[in-house]
Amino acid sequence: MPVLKLSQTVGTPGAVLEVSGNRHLFPAFIARLPAIGVERLGILASLFFSLTCNHLFFAAALANRDWTHPASWLFAAALFVAITALQSIGLLVLLNRWSAKPLLTILFLVTAAASYYMNKYTVFFNTEMVRNILRTDVKEASELFSLNFCIHMFVFGVLPGLLVWQLRLRTTPLRRAIPTRLLYIVAAIAVTVGSTMLIFQDFSSLMRNQKEVRFLITPSNYLFSLTRVVAADTAQANTPKIKISDDAKLAAGWAGRTKPMLFVLVVGETTRAANWGLNGYEHQTTPELSKLGVVNFPHATSCGTNTEVSVPCMFSIYGRHDYDEAKIRSHESLLHIIDKVGVKTVWRDNQAGCKGVCDDLEEQMLSDSKDPNLCDGERCLDEIMLEGMDGVIQKAQNGNLFVVLHQLGNHGPAYYRRYPATMRTFTPTCDTSDLSKCNREQITNSYDNGVLYTDHFLAKTIAYLKSQTSYDTAMLYLSDHGESLGEHGIYLHGLPYSIAPKEQTEVPMVMWMSPGFASSFGVNKDCLQQRAGNPVSQDNLFHSILGMLQIESKYYDPSLDMTAGCRA
Ligand SMILES: [Zn+2]
Repeated sequence: MPVLKLSQTVGTPGAVLEVSGNRHLFPAFIARLPAIGVERLGILASLFFSLTCNHLFFAAALANRDWTHPASWLFAAALFVAITALQSIGLLVLLNRWSAKPLLTILFLVTAAASYYMNKYTVFFNTEMVRNILRTDVKEASELFSLNFCIHMFVFGVLPGLLVWQLRLRTTPLRRAIPTRLLYIVAAIAVTVGSTMLIFQDFSSLMRNQKEVRFLITPSNYLFSLTRVVAADTAQANTPKIKISDDAKLAAGWAGRTKPMLFVLVVGETTRAANWGLNGYEHQTTPELSKLGVVNFPHATSCGTNTEVSVPCMFSIYGRHDYDEAKIRSHESLLHIIDKVGVKTVWRDNQAGCKGVCDDLEEQMLSDSKDPNLCDGERCLDEIMLEGMDGVIQKAQNGNLFVVLHQLGNHGPAYYRRYPATMRTFTPTCDTSDLSKCNREQITNSYDNGVLYTDHFLAKTIAYLKSQTSYDTAMLYLSDHGESLGEHGIYLHGLPYSIAPKEQTEVPMVMWMSPGFASSFGVNKDCLQQRAGNPVSQDNLFHSILGMLQIESKYYDPSLDMTAGCRA
């Protein structure tokens, strides 16, 4: 507790407190307030959260109500009381004389940051989002900072944090403190239950029809999700992956192969189907691919709306149709099967790693490369992943090779940094990561230039594969998820899957095969082309790769193999 010393101007307007000789931000009367009990401080903090960082929740919960009807006002009032009482319960459990100030300070700061991004990008703090944020690297995070963020942090995080340290906490002997605390907790539970009962019918239909809104209740949302993520990760740490590769083997057809296989799977980032030139988008964002005779799948969907969900999911036996995050993370991936049958797998990454997909397999992180032509000291353009490919092939001793290239792609919000200056084709662009400073046309143009760069990167990858004439080569590209570019006021990605707009779940997917690959694996490209208009999803990846590469596994499901009807 700092020693408070009133300045000489106490009582005059604008009087300030001095602490150890430093001028302070708070009016002098705060020092003269009577000491406050921890219980009341907890309730006040909860009220502060209800008032300052839950308007997205209330807006969603109260949308489309008839405000001429008194029941709507009752619902709003009871909901406000219930949420405030509910969050008080948690604070009443956590806070005590010693923990109150440091814990509240941390809570104010983290909640301020959370609410900033919630408001700006409509973020729902479910476990997937929390996991995504925990795995975010410093480079990604630094692209999100802005002056507005700093102002928001100061007003809603730093100021209340400082204020808490100015307060005197009442000290009560333990024998009185415990019953008092219990009384407060029981009262808070009673208020929560009572106010919920008052609006029970409305409330239960809200939780049934829009259950994702609970991830907007701040700070409970991120605290709850964080606890679940930490518990799940702790339980899983050091447990070896459950094997799915044991029975896998190359089919008999492999005996007759004359050339080794080189397959490149490009996992894209944040590129959406709506802005894909090959899908008929108004901007020609795929000029190079359109000349290369690729098979384009215009109706492909993702497993998740963020990297943390989509990347492990697309390589797993449990796709979106059978989604179970714990099972996906605890089992081996498609790559383990491919590696097991003797095809060397290498994961080359220009982003944030393979998310467990390539555990115990070779992974090359290229995002920290120093190539002056492709890297700016922080990030590299995706072409960095084609550098050193010859070395990868030589290391595999000219044997069969399955390479994954994990792109940085259209990673936002700094779209303008995802392409070289020579590719600034669509203008005017948005040359800042603070999207609120740009209009939608500028944002879309920068995004489209990023797509143009992916087109160039994929064309260059195909050109490389064409040059490898001693191999049967092929490339499959699919993006991990899409992106919102201001539709319905939503930006970026990561909304809960059940309510995500199609912009976040519809992704581009493209296949290219060398004639040698097509004939030696018996894949009929024309047939594939004819059927490419059918809906496909990331759930098809696992089974289509196994089918196409003639790898036998008990987990192979021909009904999910998009090449099944097109192979000899
Ligand atoms: Zn992603």
